[in-house]
Amino acid sequence: MTTTSPFPNLLAPLDLGFTQLANRVLMGSMHTGLEEEKGGFAKLAAFYKARAKGGVGLIVTGGVSPNARGRIAPFGSELSKFWHVKKHKQVTDAVHEYPTKICLQLLHTGRYAYHPFSVAPSKVKSPINPFTPKALSVRQIKGTINDYANSANLAKKAGYDGIEIMGSEGYLLNQFTCVKTNHRTDEWGGSIDNRMRLSIETIKAVRAKVGENFIIIFRLSMLDLVEGGNSWEDVVYMAKAVEAAGATLINTGIGWHEARVPTIATSVPRAAFTWVTEKMKQEVKIPLVTTNRINTPEVAEKILADGQADMISMARPFLADADFVNKAAADKSNEINTCIGCNQACLDHVFLQKRASCLVNPVACYETELVFGKVEKSKRIAVVGAGPAGLAFSVYAAERGHKVEIFDRAKEIGGQFNIAKQIPGKEEFFETLRYFKKKLSLLNVTVHLNSEQSTEALIVANFDEVVLATGISPRKLDIKGFDHEKVKTYLQVIRDKDVIGKKVAIIGAGGIGFDVAVYLAEKGGTGEKSLSVEPEKWMAHWGVDRSYQNNGALLSKAQMEKADKHSHDRDIYLLQRKPTKVGAGLGKTTGWIHRATLQKAGVKMMPGVTYKSITDEGLTIEINGEEQLLAVDHVIICAGQEPQRELYQKLVDAKVSVHLIGGANVAAELDAKRAIRQAAELAAII
Ligand code: FAD
Ligand code: NAP
Ligand code: SF4
Repeated sequence: MTTTSPFPNLLAPLDLGFTQLANRVLMGSMHTGLEEEKGGFAKLAAFYKARAKGGVGLIVTGGVSPNARGRIAPFGSELSKFWHVKKHKQVTDAVHEYPTKICLQLLHTGRYAYHPFSVAPSKVKSPINPFTPKALSVRQIKGTINDYANSANLAKKAGYDGIEIMGSEGYLLNQFTCVKTNHRTDEWGGSIDNRMRLSIETIKAVRAKVGENFIIIFRLSMLDLVEGGNSWEDVVYMAKAVEAAGATLINTGIGWHEARVPTIATSVPRAAFTWVTEKMKQEVKIPLVTTNRINTPEVAEKILADGQADMISMARPFLADADFVNKAAADKSNEINTCIGCNQACLDHVFLQKRASCLVNPVACYETELVFGKVEKSKRIAVVGAGPAGLAFSVYAAERGHKVEIFDRAKEIGGQFNIAKQIPGKEEFFETLRYFKKKLSLLNVTVHLNSEQSTEALIVANFDEVVLATGISPRKLDIKGFDHEKVKTYLQVIRDKDVIGKKVAIIGAGGIGFDVAVYLAEKGGTGEKSLSVEPEKWMAHWGVDRSYQNNGALLSKAQMEKADKHSHDRDIYLLQRKPTKVGAGLGKTTGWIHRATLQKAGVKMMPGVTYKSITDEGLTIEINGEEQLLAVDHVIICAGQEPQRELYQKLVDAKVSVHLIGGANVAAELDAKRAIRQAAELAAII
């Protein structure tokens, strides 16, 4: 009997001549933080091994510098000495237990290095780094080329199947290729031949050192998305030179880190940038890898079937689910734990120099520490609350062999994620609930919906353990007029769809205040489609020039005003008491996107506010000692939350073994990342 492959293009092998890749899936480079941890390489080996076991064709490691100046931070990873090889061997040996290939990424950060010894083509400081780089001398440039070749050779000795040379995202090689950062007048600056010389000489030197049978991927910046970026003609010219210099594959690089266009956040439409790889397909013969916001096998398959690329790079989706490829191959893509693009546990951690993990999969990068062993004695466990905490606990506990029943008073599972998924740009949150629903059914967890639990009912049912994941209730405020009909909670706005006027004040500018502002500014229940599912409109809104008339593929301000048809028709004030910048506490890598979105929508963000009263006229506030009336139709309260755990004490008193997780435990600074991790940690030991 022959079975047809569910994803024939994605799962097809790729013949590179001297070697074959098992499929068209490349796990993109991600720094995890384990690289620098004491004993981190054993954990890193377990991390990569799980992905190899999960069926991925080719892995690219996190970036490793070829020399000290190129390190991302003072103690960032470097491969330049023979004694560095041994620890890398742990990784390659672990991966090679499976038919997966692995390439080491060589990354010289240039002026993005977070230390005072940074170097660049010219002495031009980056807006996202406090350190000003020194301009490299010609001798140092030649030394850097040798360092790349030396590192590549050491990578080969460490058992890697190849290397990826990082030539995009605004790192050193990219800094050389663009006039934005390359002001040199010698043979390393000026014309495109001179600007790309470092990249091309590096590829040639590496090829000469490692021989023919070694993969060289070059990550080429196909879209710089910054002023002073390259023209399409320059990018194509360079791609051809990269091919001629001996690269095996070209990977697509999108946007410098300092670009003011979101490139991987959850609000970026899926596969938003594959068009640029497709454009390049007409220009070179070697296989091209496309990338950015591709997170399901269906999307990946379509890109390949449409001939837009030869391979698909996905990075964060492999944090979210190590078994992505095997599940796709088994036609079980609805069992994949999908990356929702939140950046909360991965990139935000890396920028804070913490170990990366994943909001939806807390096991990522903790493979040797967070382990769910099968239980010897199965317990009957009641879980009250089917928000992220209750759902995650139920799945992990049931996987271990416990008999789990989950209760929620609502008509559907999901808790606050059902609110979050309705925010424009957070459509991906649907996927997490789809995943949990499927897992509950596969693991035979009994789900009781429309089922408000009381202490008495739980005591009578006589469970071995009760887990309270009952979440939070919105905070009530002590402001004169708080009971006025103008006052609404965020739940009334998003969950209950109360009709909201054209003039609105939002009290509280945390994550939820921002989301409510986006919701009201972008559509506010009108049924208008979110930009995240309208790639063309999204591009115009963020100023991306698909016709590539301008260098860096950016629209000019005038072009953007003409192209962006997205309109807003509400007056919104977003208020907070703190005198600091509104939104300062948002995610490191996404906060600027939320702020820019609201600025584009004309939302007035006001810090240092004292709330005086709410009346028929509106909301009276005081700023810098001066009172002012905001004549608004509605005042929406997004001022944080309190734990909801009325059941807890009575259960303790009745000697029931009871546990609190998620918002029910601590509401302050709660997010789904903490709720899910805490649930997993309890499930691992209960
Ligand atoms: P909840 O999600 O609140 O779930 C608790 C559940 O318990 C509810 O379903 C409730 O019905 C049920 N329940 C309560 N009492 C009983 C009872 N007696 N009987 C039966 N059932 C009961 N977090 C992020 O990390 N990233 C984000 O981008 C993000 N965006 C958000 C956007 C919005 C608009 C909102 C509102 C929240 C957002 N959050 C986000 C926060 C995140 O959703 C919460 O941190 C998370 O849902 C908390 O999970 P939980 O399981 O502890 O509680
Ligand atoms: P939050 O982030 O703690 O924000 C609460 C806001 O209310 C703050 O702006 C606070 O600022 C204000 N506030 C607090 N007490 C107040 C009071 N007594 N009177 C008036 N204002 C008060 O909480 P949240 O917005 O409710 O979000 C809950 C959690 O969900 C967050 O911790 C967040 O991590 C998560 N979330 C995350 C995202 C995301 O995109 N990552 C999105 C949504 C939610 P002042 O004290 O300065 O006024
Ligand atoms: Fe994806 Fe968020 Fe997990 Fe990062 S933390 S891998 S963005 S789901």
